[in-house]
Amino acid sequence: MTTPVDNRSESDYSGKVRAISERLRSWSGPIVLATHIDPDGDAVGSTLALSRALQALGRATTVSLTPPRFLAFLTAPGELVPQLETLAPGTLLIALDAGAASRVAGVPLGDAALTINIDHHGTNERFGDIHLVDPSKAATAQIVKDIVEQLGLAWTPELATPCLLGILTDTGFLRFGNTRPAVLRAAAELLASGLDYAELTDRLQWRPQSYYPLLAQVMATVEFPLGGEVALARVTESMREDLSEEILDSEDFIGVIRYAEGIRVAVLLKEQGDTTKVSVRTRGGVSAQAICLMLGGGGHVPAAGATIAAAIDIARERVLTAVRKELDQTDRRGSPEPRR
Ligand code: AMP
Ligand code: MN
Ligand code: MN
Repeated sequence: MTTPVDNRSESDYSGKVRAISERLRSWSGPIVLATHIDPDGDAVGSTLALSRALQALGRATTVSLTPPRFLAFLTAPGELVPQLETLAPGTLLIALDAGAASRVAGVPLGDAALTINIDHHGTNERFGDIHLVDPSKAATAQIVKDIVEQLGLAWTPELATPCLLGILTDTGFLRFGNTRPAVLRAAAELLASGLDYAELTDRLQWRPQSYYPLLAQVMATVEFPLGGEVALARVTESMREDLSEEILDSEDFIGVIRYAEGIRVAVLLKEQGDTTKVSVRTRGGVSAQAICLMLGGGGHVPAAGATIAAAIDIARERVLTAVRKELDQTDRRGSPEPRR
């Protein structure tokens, strides 16, 4: 008998972790894990950690995921498949770090016998049969850590490294406001597995030599619109040599301009054919989430994103309109919103 999972209650976090762990332990069919498009460190880390944990329990798992080049070093040969066209009958699908069904990459969601949605985005649409969504967690990997421990597994470097990666990347290497005491405790416990921390943090920041001239070109586009309250930069297709290969961490450029003095909002526009990928970072009570929801995207209060079906110049205007609205609303509210 498995414990029924009550999706109505968001508050019973431990109960849900227990119930999901039981489901995972007792599932006899195939298990497929997937995450969001343009996977980041938390996407790759939480997915690999949970897959490796289930394998340690003797389960056969398949991970459908194409990692960006800067994270490929974490994966073992044959550990990932880029895409699954169909799922075998009786497949359990676990979606990690994906706020919406439409953002889950590389799997036909409708084929799954059961879908479990594990995430920390406040904007999560609560898709799937069972969802464990906790926006108070800094990373989906932090939720996966609780599941791995509920499964009774001991931390090995193979399990702990991807889990710590997810926590490190979603907290800006333990610098962002989501770095709460529980996050540091979780990181310390993962570090105690004996994983090679210097190697992990060093490798995470390796970039191909072609990245550095690209950085120079992107920084040459920086502008400070809306009276200097916004830093905005662009990555255009003509700057990128190989459009087929995703080499970068989405923090790479916005992580530089977000620290321009006097700004409250940083925006990176990335040209992708007729569409534009938007990344937004905010401070001082301004909500990147509110800005990106206006643009059809989502995310967290200090960091959010959207994909706009328009060319980069039109997208720039739409983004600035949304930013202006949110700045006005923030000023009318007066006091900063709690950060999530
Ligand atoms: P990024 O700027 O790509 O690093 O994204 C920042 C945050 O917003 C991450 O947590 C993403 O998962 C989320 N996010 C990015 N793009 C979208 C989107 N189109 N829809 C919903 N959430 C998004
Ligand atoms: Mn993510
Ligand atoms: Mn995440």
